[in-house]
Amino acid sequence: MPPDDAGIDTLAVHAGTRDEQPEGAVTVPIYQSSTYTFRDTAELRAHFAGEPHRMEYGRYGNPTQRACERKLAALEGAGGALLFGSGMAAITTTLMALVRQGQHVILAGDCYRRTRQFCQSVLGRFGVQSTLTDNNDLQAIESALQKNTRVIITESPTNPYLNCVDVAALEALRARVAARFKILIDATFATPINLRPLALGADLVVHSATKYLGGHNDLLAGVVAGPAPMIDAIRDLQGVLGGVIDPHAAYLLLRGLKTLPLRVRRQNESALALARTLSARPEVDRVYYPGLPSHPSHAIARETMSGFGGVVSFTLKADLEGTSRFIDATRIFGIGPSLGGVESLIEQVAVMSYVELSTEQRQAIGISDSLVRMAVGLESVEDLERDLLDALGAV
Ligand SMILES: *Cc1c(COP(=O)(O)O)cnc(C)c1O
Repeated sequence: MPPDDAGIDTLAVHAGTRDEQPEGAVTVPIYQSSTYTFRDTAELRAHFAGEPHRMEYGRYGNPTQRACERKLAALEGAGGALLFGSGMAAITTTLMALVRQGQHVILAGDCYRRTRQFCQSVLGRFGVQSTLTDNNDLQAIESALQKNTRVIITESPTNPYLNCVDVAALEALRARVAARFKILIDATFATPINLRPLALGADLVVHSATKYLGGHNDLLAGVVAGPAPMIDAIRDLQGVLGGVIDPHAAYLLLRGLKTLPLRVRRQNESALALARTLSARPEVDRVYYPGLPSHPSHAIARETMSGFGGVVSFTLKADLEGTSRFIDATRIFGIGPSLGGVESLIEQVAVMSYVELSTEQRQAIGISDSLVRMAVGLESVEDLERDLLDALGAV
């Protein structure tokens, strides 16, 4: 096991794996087993008495999953972490563990669409009210506070405009008004390499591990990390709701995490370089990237993050069709949703996520027809730059 004060690269490689694997294996095996047997009834009884705790049935845990959870807890500086079959399973199970009927949730207006949908449509049906606010408007958050507010859920950076939340300011607000709500941060776009929400005062951090944590566009997973007692409570509910990760996905995630610091630093660098290139182009209307001084979250991001992430959004001086021509003219970028993998992806937000709305309806919610979201992968940045510049010629 790495020393407690090990650097993040050392933790990414070594944390979570036991010193001794079966047969001296370097990597943690995939425990492809749905259930576990006991030597005798005495061992079974000892297990249920909690001494020693061991594997029992797949829905309650798997050794490959546990190793991956220990690594993620180390990367987040958390007491514990819990894996799920998807990011949405992590978010929905966590929220259900935190709230009950009659309570209230505040969520960022520009949070992930399915998170908003879950709070408004699903939690609403169970008597939990929610209020949408601006991520960065502490005054709006304070006026949305109610006596029964139980959770503030927000994202940093957000999608697609990459607004960053000042977690420490949220925590200071909570102390000032002596409120007891929990602060839950979806840090999917940041990763623990760029942002450590728990150190800044958040109670829980969730990720869609499908994105940067997995990093290879080949798995679906989610994670929540935080103090061990809270994670244990969420684990108990997961045992009821069943949104578990399968051992093979846990193995792929464990493998991907070893290169997380390398990948994210490189994606930070490439994204910043491409954001600067695009800002200087006459075909580009506006670039949204927290690493640029023009971004509204630049100051917060510089203060609280160690990198600005691999996603860049921008608008073109073009209409819906012109923007589609640009997208279609790229050759390295795959046209599709998702982010965080080694393969660069690009999407025209109006067509990908808001296709059922008219141009006017999209404008009303701040989504321009020419808005492009680019998730930078690990290709040579010169190649990506050339691809974008060539494609701009097609607008
Ligand atoms: C993708 C994503 C999710 C959902 O995660 P899945 O793994 O797709 O279920 C939640 N939040 C953010 C910010 C995401 O990007």
